[in-house]
Amino acid sequence: MPSGALTASYIAASILFILSLGGLSHQEKARRGNVYGIVGMAIAIFATIASDQVSNLGVIIVMMLIGGTIGAVVAVRVQMTQMPQLVAILHSFVGLAAVLVGFATYVDPTMHFEGVEATIHNVEIYLGVLIGAVTFTGSVIAFGKLQGVIMSKPLLLPARHWINLAAGLACIWLGSWFLDAESAGTGVMVLTIMTLIAFAFGVHMVMAIGGADMPVVISMLNSYSGWAAAATGFMLSNDLLIITGALVGSSGAILSYIMCRAMNRRFVSVIMGGFGTTTGGGSSTEAGEVQATTAEEVAEMLKSAKEVVIVPGYGMAVAQAQHTVSDVTQRLRDAGVKVRFGIHPVAGRMPGHMNVLLAEARVPYDIVLEMDEINADLDRTDVVLIIGANDIVNPSAQEDPDSPIAGMPVLEVWRAGTVVVSKRSMATGYAGVDNPLFYKDNTRMLFGDARESVESILACLI
Ligand code: NDP
Repeated sequence: MPSGALTASYIAASILFILSLGGLSHQEKARRGNVYGIVGMAIAIFATIASDQVSNLGVIIVMMLIGGTIGAVVAVRVQMTQMPQLVAILHSFVGLAAVLVGFATYVDPTMHFEGVEATIHNVEIYLGVLIGAVTFTGSVIAFGKLQGVIMSKPLLLPARHWINLAAGLACIWLGSWFLDAESAGTGVMVLTIMTLIAFAFGVHMVMAIGGADMPVVISMLNSYSGWAAAATGFMLSNDLLIITGALVGSSGAILSYIMCRAMNRRFVSVIMGGFGTTTGGGSSTEAGEVQATTAEEVAEMLKSAKEVVIVPGYGMAVAQAQHTVSDVTQRLRDAGVKVRFGIHPVAGRMPGHMNVLLAEARVPYDIVLEMDEINADLDRTDVVLIIGANDIVNPSAQEDPDSPIAGMPVLEVWRAGTVVVSKRSMATGYAGVDNPLFYKDNTRMLFGDARESVESILACLI
């Protein structure tokens, strides 16, 4: 492919990626946004394969077939509730790719740079490998925490800030040594030492972050993976990779900011770790009895209510209850009840998790409101129906300054007339914090799997 056609293809792909990001920020246009992204990626891959940058087409095609098959099988098999883990592990691949490309580019005998150009090239390699290595191990640990194979409780080493500082200073010092290296052998050795330090840093950084702050970690690693891809683009002199990496890096950074605001955290504090330290049995537990209810009683309450707000959480995703919830909503609306949904920004296990599920179940977009939009209306709401949510409706975030989630904005559901909580037991949520909401006078617990409970409610509404 001539270089003009390659540039034009890359520009077209970049525009499609920008349109894709724009589309993904609105539920109505998200599907179209995905299509733009797929077409953009297809153009990018085809143009790169057809360009003269590729010397061994056979190997590329075989590797694409292997990778594509693995990707397709995993994507078909993965449950919706496992998407966050999948995203985390995909981020780790981007990080590992940046490390491998960095080493390969450094030892590539065909690359000859002199003077300033050589310094710039080596800075690109060093930064690419550094960011890639932190992204790789950080994402692997995030995967482990989300999968439940690594405890979500933060690991707080006594001198953790000093360890981080020492690692940072060591990377700076090694960087200057790398740039002054007189032989490729010394350069590779220095790069390897820095990579090992960055691997350890990535592990330590994510291990120190508590369960409640995982949303920020996921979006932050998303951003890092973008910068790692951009650095790879610089190393390979590939403009499209630079643009794509910068888009992912900056959108991930904006998402991290939004997540921090949603959790009332300072970004630096999250990175330093240590939030969500106490788990279970904390001071927030209120002694008292819980009041259990039945599906029949809940159906009666809903039927006689004027305004109902449904708050979905991770449990709705696990139970795959969204379709039945949608049916209940439709039935109540047909009966003249005003039904709306209150969505917390970190509900579920990934940004936008609840919105995706509700869209899949065809819940109308205009009745799905953000936490800030619905909180003011909860006073005059007759019934709040909580489906598998816990941390996002925990009053101890406001009432208990010692709570690990203190200060995190929550849906103030206890201000409604009656609160019904559908969950299986009295177990805590992801942050491991007890929830005093369950003991309040106006709360009724509907124990059982969310899908079965909502199906029973639906049956009573017919
Ligand atoms: P939580 O994890 O706080 O609570 C979910 C509740 O659902 C549990 O208490 C569980 O109780 C219940 N549950 C589980 N399975 C079922 C089922 N089959 N039927 C009925 N109930 C069920 O979820 P929230 O959505 O309230 O809060 C999200 C949490 O996840 C926050 O702490 C957030 O920080 C964190 N997080 C969010 C991410 C994001 O990007 N959104 C990413 C990573 C973490 P029981 O076992 O008794 O049924």
